[in-house]
Amino acid sequence: MTRNTGYVWHERYGWHDTGTFAGIVPPGPMVQPFHNFESPESKTRFNSLVEVSGLVEHLTKLRPALATEEDVLRVHTPRHLEHIRSQSEAQLGDAGDGWSPFGRGAYEIALLAAGGTITATEAVLTGAVDNAYALVRPPGHHAERDLGMGYCLFANIPIAIEWARVHHGVERVAVVDYDVHHGNGTQHIYEDDPDVLAISLHQDRLFPQDSGLVDERGFGAGAGATINVPLPAGSGNGAYLAAFERVVGPALRAFKPQLIMVASGFDASAVDPLGGMTVTASAYRSMASTLVALADELCDGRLVFSHEGGYSPVYVPYCGLAVLEAISGVETGVPDPYAHSFEHSPAHPLKPWQDEVIGASEALARQLGLVV
Ligand code: ZN
Repeated sequence: MTRNTGYVWHERYGWHDTGTFAGIVPPGPMVQPFHNFESPESKTRFNSLVEVSGLVEHLTKLRPALATEEDVLRVHTPRHLEHIRSQSEAQLGDAGDGWSPFGRGAYEIALLAAGGTITATEAVLTGAVDNAYALVRPPGHHAERDLGMGYCLFANIPIAIEWARVHHGVERVAVVDYDVHHGNGTQHIYEDDPDVLAISLHQDRLFPQDSGLVDERGFGAGAGATINVPLPAGSGNGAYLAAFERVVGPALRAFKPQLIMVASGFDASAVDPLGGMTVTASAYRSMASTLVALADELCDGRLVFSHEGGYSPVYVPYCGLAVLEAISGVETGVPDPYAHSFEHSPAHPLKPWQDEVIGASEALARQLGLVV
């Protein structure tokens, strides 16, 4: 079954400049200059494959609009908005944590990334498309209300959720985050909100350090609506698919969202310079198919992906293509050229120490079913 899938991309996303770095550190006398791991390459090459594979002919291209100040201020403090705007006028500014550099004009590109996520959400909510993928940059899931961090300037998904609440009366939203890093921004923005379920699958204590533990469950009225699955380093397809089956599925069924948003990072892939996981394109395809089925079952198929991390310029395009094929139902026939290297790793079968973590998160998903 094919679907009408919306697709957001804009050349300006590739113009977001993260400066001359050596991966994650500034160059210095004993650090040879290179580029930042967060570079345009993985995203522009993802878009290139969508074009060259012919998949783009089967997608509905959506032109992103700039988010407005009002849109941003539903989530962020005026101080943070002003910080990003003023830093964006410098030759090399920073989002707030000292490790998230950007060049001139980043403010407008960040507004376009948040706006692109809004555009995708609007198209899904109006029924213009069945589901959507917003290939935006810079990413958003680390951005806190008053602080940019981890390459994130504005919280793209929360900005789109708050827009949807105001303009479409959406009440209950679930966020599923499979980026290898903890979705700390999304969690903190919604940790006292019972109407937004934030589920994050990530590498245990990778970034932010000591963040995203199982016992972070939200508080106040939002207690229980935060679920973390901090998978041990080295987890592969077996752990991720088990977490989807035993945690994501039951939690979404218990929560009954009206809209599912996905923080789609591909840095849990087998060759990511910032992650220590071994996920392959076939598992990303399976996770996306599961989300499509859950959205069909729970919320008339309303499913919006917003791109996050993923720093392998050569592999992210195939992981992304697999997700786009899964949500559109269109098969391009383009094989994963890395499958012969990555699919047969002994890292893939579920290990007991991974099963233990999933079991703890699974218990939280069951409790959500009892509470709601
Ligand atoms: Zn990430």
